[in-house]
Amino acid sequence: MLKANSAKIRHFQVEPSLPEALKPLIDIANNLWWTWNYDAVELFVRLDQNLWTQTKHNPVKLLGMVSQDKLESAARDEGFLGQLQQVHQQLKTHVSRAPWMPDGQKDPNEYSICYFCSEFGMTESLQIYSGGLGLLAGDHLKSASELGIPLLAVGLLYRYGYFQQYLSSDGWQQETDPKLDFSQLPVHQVKDASGEQVKVSVRLPGRDVKIALWKVKVGKVDLYLLDTNLPENNTEDRTITGQLYGGDMEMRIKQEIVLGIGGVRALEAIGIRPDVCHMNEGHSAFLGLERIRRLIEDNDLAFDEARQAAAASHCFTTHTPVPAGIDRFPPEMIKRYFKDYHESLRLDMEGLLALGRENVGDKGEFFSMAVLAIRTADWCNGVSKLHGEVSRGMWQNVWPDVPTGEVPIGHVTNGVHARSWLDPQLVRLFDRYLGTPWREDQADKDVWRGIAEIPDEDLWRVHEDARQKLVVWAKRKLRTQMERQGKSPEMIRNHCEALSDDALTVGFARRFATYKRGTLLLRDMKRLERLLESEQRPIQFLIAGKAHPADGGGKALIRELVQFSNESKLGHRIVFLEDYDIGVARYLVQGCDIWLNTPRRGMEASGTSGMKAAMNGVLNCSILDGWWDEAYEPDLGWAIGRREEYANPEQGDDIESRALYDLLENQIIPLFYQRDDQGMPREWVARMKQCIGRLAPAFNTNRMVQDYTRKYYLPAARRAATMAADGLKNSVDMAHVKHRLHEHWDGIKILNINAQLDKPLELRQTLDVTAEINLAKLEPSEVRVQIFAGTIDNDGDMVGGSTIDMRHEKDLGGGKHKFVGVIEPTTSGRYGFAVRVIPGAELLDGFWEPGLICWDAPERPVAPVVEEKVEEKKVVASSAS
Ligand SMILES: *Cc1c(COP(=O)(O)O)cnc(C)c1O
Repeated sequence: MLKANSAKIRHFQVEPSLPEALKPLIDIANNLWWTWNYDAVELFVRLDQNLWTQTKHNPVKLLGMVSQDKLESAARDEGFLGQLQQVHQQLKTHVSRAPWMPDGQKDPNEYSICYFCSEFGMTESLQIYSGGLGLLAGDHLKSASELGIPLLAVGLLYRYGYFQQYLSSDGWQQETDPKLDFSQLPVHQVKDASGEQVKVSVRLPGRDVKIALWKVKVGKVDLYLLDTNLPENNTEDRTITGQLYGGDMEMRIKQEIVLGIGGVRALEAIGIRPDVCHMNEGHSAFLGLERIRRLIEDNDLAFDEARQAAAASHCFTTHTPVPAGIDRFPPEMIKRYFKDYHESLRLDMEGLLALGRENVGDKGEFFSMAVLAIRTADWCNGVSKLHGEVSRGMWQNVWPDVPTGEVPIGHVTNGVHARSWLDPQLVRLFDRYLGTPWREDQADKDVWRGIAEIPDEDLWRVHEDARQKLVVWAKRKLRTQMERQGKSPEMIRNHCEALSDDALTVGFARRFATYKRGTLLLRDMKRLERLLESEQRPIQFLIAGKAHPADGGGKALIRELVQFSNESKLGHRIVFLEDYDIGVARYLVQGCDIWLNTPRRGMEASGTSGMKAAMNGVLNCSILDGWWDEAYEPDLGWAIGRREEYANPEQGDDIESRALYDLLENQIIPLFYQRDDQGMPREWVARMKQCIGRLAPAFNTNRMVQDYTRKYYLPAARRAATMAADGLKNSVDMAHVKHRLHEHWDGIKILNINAQLDKPLELRQTLDVTAEINLAKLEPSEVRVQIFAGTIDNDGDMVGGSTIDMRHEKDLGGGKHKFVGVIEPTTSGRYGFAVRVIPGAELLDGFWEPGLICWDAPERPVAPVVEEKVEEKKVVASSAS
C-alpha cells in the first residue's frame, strides 16, 4: 500500500463506458428507488447474475465491472432495452409525483421536513446501518418518496459502516470492518457553484472540524450524509464518521455534535432551512440548540424567546423503553464541548446543562440526549401503542405532577416499507388480485380485502417457492461458513443436506441482546430434542443476528446456539446463519413459515421484523410486546403468554419457554401438517390470508408516514409558522407569558373546594363543584382551573381521568376568585375528582410547560408520625433519669 502521507496521490475517476442505449442504467443504479422495484433489480441480474451476487447487490459497482461483451449484447437485446425504457420511465414518473396530503388538503409545498437519524438501512450494499432504528429510517424515506411527502434527510457517512459478523468454529462472534468505497456506491459529493465539495465546520474543544457533504437519492428523497474524513482535519477527527456506534462516550458526543449541529449547518450551506425537523431518536438532539442559536443570531432574541419557535417545529421520536438505551453524557463533558457554544445561546452553562436533566435542580445528573430532545421539541412520540404508554411513564419526571396519561408523548406505531420486504412473486400476486392501487394506498383496508380472493393454491405455491429459495440460499451460505470454520466435509454434508425444502421452518433473526432471549428455545433440552426428532413432521430453525461487539452476554447466547448445533445429534435442525443484514433478512422474512420473537415483555419498543414476516404471510409467534401487543388476534398468529411481567426473570423464562414448547407441539406443528387430499394446509393458508389482509394495511410505513404527516408534520409546520410570524412575535410573547407565570406560580393557593359528597349520586345526576382559589398576582384569564375526574381503584388512585374546565364566577377580592364546574358521571362506580390550575394562554393550549401545574394538595399524614417519636423519646429520657 502507498500511504497518502508518503506521496501526493492525484485522484481521478473512471466511469463505466456504457453504450448509449444503456445510459439510463446509470440513473437507475444511482437512485435507491431500485431497491423496491423488482423490474429494476432484474435488469442488473440480467446483465450479470454472478456479479450481482458477488457485488452484494451493488448496481453501481456492477456497472463498473461488467464486461464490455455483456454490455454490448444487452445493448442489442430488444427485450432488455424495452424493459430498461420502461423502468427508466417509471423512475422518472416516480420522482415527479404529486405529494399526498391528508383529507384532500392542498398546497403541501408550503412546508418541508428534515429527518435526522444516526443510521439509515436501505440496502445491504450501503452498510450505514446496524439494525432496527436504521431500517425504520430507511423505510421511512422510501415511503416518504412513494407518498411524495416534501422530506429530506440527514445522516452520517461511516467510512467503515457497521461491522460484519463471522463466527469462530466454536461459535464466538468475530468482527471485521470492511471499508466502504464511496466511488462504488450511489453516494455523490454535493458541490457548490465553483465545483468544490460543500463543507461546513463545527467547533470541538480547541479546534474546528470540517465536515464534507454527500448525497444519496432515495426515490424523490435526498439523503445528505456528513463526512469528517478530510485532510484538513487531524487524524483523530477524521475518524469521527468512521464507525457506526463504535468508540467510547467521547466519540459518541463528537458524532452527535457533527450530526446535530453540523447537520443544520450543512443544510444551510446548500440553502435549505426546513420548516420541521424530525429527530429519529435522540442522537441528533443537538440540532435543537443549533436551530435556536440561529434564531437568536438572526433576530437578536433571548434563549427562551427563540426556543418557543424552534420547539414548535421539532418532532422527537423515542425508540427505547429502557433508560439504559439512552445516550447520557457526564456534565463535565458537556462543559468541555460547549464551553464557547453556550454563550451564543445566551445561556449560562448551568442553563444549558439543565436542558438535559430530568430533575432540573440535580447538578450531578448526566446530560440526557432524550431529555434535551423533549425539552426542545413540542412533539414527542413512542413507536407503538404500548411503547407510548411506557414512554409516558418513563419521562413523567420531566413534567412533574402531570398525570401519566396526560404526559405529552403520543405514539405512531412503526411499520415497514412493503415493496422492499415483499417477495416479488407475492407482489405480482397482489397486483393481480388487489389491483395496482395496493401499491399506493396501502393504509386502505378495503384495498386488502382482495386477499380473500387469492386461490389457496396460488398463495401456497408462492410461499413454498419462497421457502425453497430460502433453503437453497441457506445451504449455500451454511456450506461457505462451515468450510471457513474448518468443519469436516462429512459434517458439512450432513448439516447442509438436512435442511429441507418442505419442513416447517421457524425464523428467529434479531440483535443478540440478552433481553431478546435468543436461547429461550434451549431451556429444556429434552423437550427441544423431542420436537426436533420427528421425521414425519420435521421442524427446522434458522437463526441469525449480531451482538454488539462490546456485549459479551449477547455473544455468549450466539455461542450457546452454535454449540447446540455443533454437538447435539439433532443440531442440524438449528442453523445459525452469519452476518445478519438486509439481504439475510429478506430471505428469512419471505421464506419462513413462523417468525419467532421472545423479548422480555416491556423491553421491545416495537420490533419490525415481525411486520416484514406478516406481510409475506409468515405467521408470528411472539411475546405480546411492542407491535405484537397491538396486532395480535388469535386467528392471525400466536401469543406466548398473556401479557404477564415477571419480577423474577428466571421464573419468567421458565414459564414462557414452556408456553413456547406447548404452542409448537400442540398448535403450530399440527396445524402446519394438517393437509387435505390435495396436500393443502387449508387452515394454515386461511391464517396466512388473515395475517396479510389485516396486518399489512396497518403495519406498513406508508401508513406510518401518513400518521406522522397528519399528527406531527403538518401541525408542527403550522405552529412553527404561527410562532415565526411578524418577526417571531408569538414566540417572544409566549416566552414572556411563561416567564410571568413561572414568576407568580408559587403564589397560587387552592383554598376551598365545595361539593356535596356525603350522599351517593344517582346515575344521570350531576355534581356541582365550586373552588375558591387565590391566584395572587395572576389574573383569572391567565389560568385555567380544571376538575380532573375519574374512577378510583382500591389504592385510592385515579385510573385514567378526564378534565372539565371550571368557569370563573366571581372576583372575591385580594387575589381570590371563585370558580364553578359540573361533573356528569356516565357510569356508576367509585369516582373521585381533584381540582387543578394550569396556564390559560391560548398559544399554550394543549402544550404542557414543566412546573406550571398546581393541584389541590392532599393532607399529608406526616404530623402524627413525628409526634409518636417525640413521645417515645420522652419515655426513654424519663426512665433513664
Ligand atoms: C428489520 C430488521 C431489523 C429490526 O428487526 P426487529 O424485529 O426490530 O429486531 C434488524 N436488522 C435487520 C437487518 C432488519 O432487516
